[in-house]
Amino acid sequence: MINPFQLLGISDDVVNAIKELGFEQPTPIQEQAIPVLLQGNNDFVGLAQTGTGKTAAFGLPLLELIDFKSNKPQALILCPTRELCLQIANDLKNFSKNLSNANIVAVYGGASIVQQLREIRNGVQIVVATPGRMLDIIGRKAIDFSNVKHVVLDEADEMLNMGFQEDINEILSTTPEDKKTWLFSATMPAEVRRIAKNYMDSPVELTMGTKNSGNANIEHEYYVVRAREKYDALKRIVDFNPDIFGVVFCKTKLDTQEVAENLIKDGYNADALHGDLSQQQRDKVMKRFRDRSMQLLVATDVAARGIDVNNVTHVINYALPDEIESYTHRSGRTARAGKSGISICIINAKETGKIRQLERIIGKPFTKAEVPGGFEVCEKQLFSLIHKVHNVEVNESQIEQYIPRIMDEFKDLEKEEVIKRFASLEFNRFLEYYRDAPDLNVTPYERGERGERGERSERGERGERRERGERRGSARDGSYTRLFINLGAVDEFTRGDMLSFVCNHAKISGKSVGKIDLKGVFSFFEVENEVVDKVFGGFKSVEFNGRDVRIERSGEAESQGFGGGGGRREGGRSFGARRDSNGGGFRDFSGKSRSDRSERSDRSGGFNKKESSRRKKW
Ligand code: AMP
Repeated sequence: MINPFQLLGISDDVVNAIKELGFEQPTPIQEQAIPVLLQGNNDFVGLAQTGTGKTAAFGLPLLELIDFKSNKPQALILCPTRELCLQIANDLKNFSKNLSNANIVAVYGGASIVQQLREIRNGVQIVVATPGRMLDIIGRKAIDFSNVKHVVLDEADEMLNMGFQEDINEILSTTPEDKKTWLFSATMPAEVRRIAKNYMDSPVELTMGTKNSGNANIEHEYYVVRAREKYDALKRIVDFNPDIFGVVFCKTKLDTQEVAENLIKDGYNADALHGDLSQQQRDKVMKRFRDRSMQLLVATDVAARGIDVNNVTHVINYALPDEIESYTHRSGRTARAGKSGISICIINAKETGKIRQLERIIGKPFTKAEVPGGFEVCEKQLFSLIHKVHNVEVNESQIEQYIPRIMDEFKDLEKEEVIKRFASLEFNRFLEYYRDAPDLNVTPYERGERGERGERSERGERGERRERGERRGSARDGSYTRLFINLGAVDEFTRGDMLSFVCNHAKISGKSVGKIDLKGVFSFFEVENEVVDKVFGGFKSVEFNGRDVRIERSGEAESQGFGGGGGRREGGRSFGARRDSNGGGFRDFSGKSRSDRSERSDRSGGFNKKESSRRKKW
């Protein structure tokens, strides 16, 4: 049977090489692009997400068009990041391994230029480069592009977002007028359109899926939670997906670092990737992620560009990106190479409008998901463990020597009892951790929607407050008791949040709660006299972000001068589903003052570039 890549026009040597890589059938973009690009005489625009097989879509025809007898640069591939540069060069080297004298060099910042110059001097046909380092080498007059026949601009939108427009102009000006330009981009903002117009002559245009649309294999979900409970929701979602291998996106470097540190402290297998890390640190983190010795990579948009790891199961938008289009890039980190994946947004009630905007842009609906309850997580974890035990590969030769002793240990137990005990080992830990776990979902009432509280809920929190003030009893008429709590606005509580927090822990109805007086580091709330004991009982051993939550009758609290707020303490109760028994304490998270210092620049090709200010905001 003829190999389908041969049918597309790819030569035997290359077909044999890609067969070894497991390429049996061309991906849709390869099927469409390869015959067009093989002609070699067209400019080309391909709208394709990362993970669709676009490297081979341009790489395979490129290899067919190169004269490997000559040692002069004939093709230049520009891409936004060092990671992508290495990936492309590596792919091309793999595709061309049966071609004699094929020389491909990767040119990128943060690595020795001397070595790269040496490789160029030794003769090269294909240069894969990030713009910064490429310009540096051109500036040194160390390369001659007069024989370049093809230029590929990969992830063109990202290159423009990173401010490489001028560098690209300069680089392209050193290549011959009659070269052909192939542009690939995940999205098609006006700036990319302009490039296509300025540099190309009637390009053939191919769109895989709708413009700006994400990969069809990605499911999009969102969870609506209170801002201060985002981190708890993240952990809950992760715990509910025991085999998760995911990227968690944050907006700022600081948030990235904090979330990663908190996850690590809580026993998760996570690490941070952001622009404040040295190249060496970033490489280390990426290597661990690629090797799958890390489960959760917490990253900024800039640092995550070019992350090119297969089998990512989930992308979690811990914060929605500033620019709408970044969402497509983020979600494109999953569902690569024909796999499926889930892109999750953890949002607060005010951000639901942004979800509607995203739905319009990517042309796909988002499913509203409920943060799983504690019991659901326990159940999921239990069966994941059981499944793993059932499927574990037994190393017979190694375990054999211990079997007699193990059997001896269990000799007084029935098979069922042994199984129960194995299962309980993990299950108990989860049960303990999730005992009394509160519901993290924002209620329709808190979202200000018509819902569980009937027509009153439609007016949302303000209406509720007014109503409580007017209609309900108050501490003054003797039917309510005013209580002090050492949590307040600085903990990102709204009155609605406080209401649910109190109701969830005290297990009382919202109707029993009167006026809520939210202060900075503490608050007062009124409850019906009959439920006061329940409130004290419910808050006996509650912690919030590592500090004990204290409830006092307001007179006591005020007379004791509690105005200064609750004693914040680092390292509280052992917390965290994945923590092992000797893990550290849970660190204060949301109470910290946040820097909104956004990661605006990053290192790529050794250059710090400002991001384009023309990006589409929400
Ligand atoms: P890319 O979009 O080029 O980054 O490719 C995504 C992943 O899909 C890479 O790991 C490729 O090795 C893989 N891939 C590309 N084309 C094929 C194919 N035809 N069959 C199987 N895997 C492929």
